[in-house]
Amino acid sequence: MSLAILALDSGGQPKGWMTPETAACQYARGNVVWALGQVICTFRGGISRRTGERSVIEVASIIACDGEHRHNVWNPVSALPGRDNRMLFARDRNICCYCGGVFPESELTRDHIVPRSQGGRDTWENCVTACRRCNLDKAGRTPEQAGLKLLYVPYRPVKSEKLILANRHILADQMEYLLALAKSHRTRLRAA
Ligand SMILES: [Zn+2]
Repeated sequence: MSLAILALDSGGQPKGWMTPETAACQYARGNVVWALGQVICTFRGGISRRTGERSVIEVASIIACDGEHRHNVWNPVSALPGRDNRMLFARDRNICCYCGGVFPESELTRDHIVPRSQGGRDTWENCVTACRRCNLDKAGRTPEQAGLKLLYVPYRPVKSEKLILANRHILADQMEYLLALAKSHRTRLRAA
């Protein structure tokens, strides 16, 4: 996914990522109730017979749409993706949980804290990023059995965090909006 528009519902809750073209259609249909952030693309349409002016749609980086727009919104799934490790590595910032080294994706693996051979599950809470060497060293053991310590605690991201993790080309204003939501969500979780 390259440049994407953050789509919200009219109450400001994030729905997912949209292509700029889909966002322009939402503008054209009059579904955009408010918008935030910088204008990131401009679409030029036909010339109006009535006014003689060319129609222009300026698409902002964050748009709130009225009604349902189930189609064309890309929303990361809530479970940890089975094969794709990019969101896991992004959550852990490419840092190996055992040696603390920062590695390129090609050097990283998904480590099951409690190994699958011992009944460990493929969940956000049981998976961390590990470099190939540490994963080989740990093998089919738990960190305790291998004499290793976790350098960070794995967590299940909330929806706004998943949207951040899923988009490598996130813009500063989109990041700011989603981080503020994630923060208020976590505060509510702690208070509950
Ligand atoms: Zn390592």
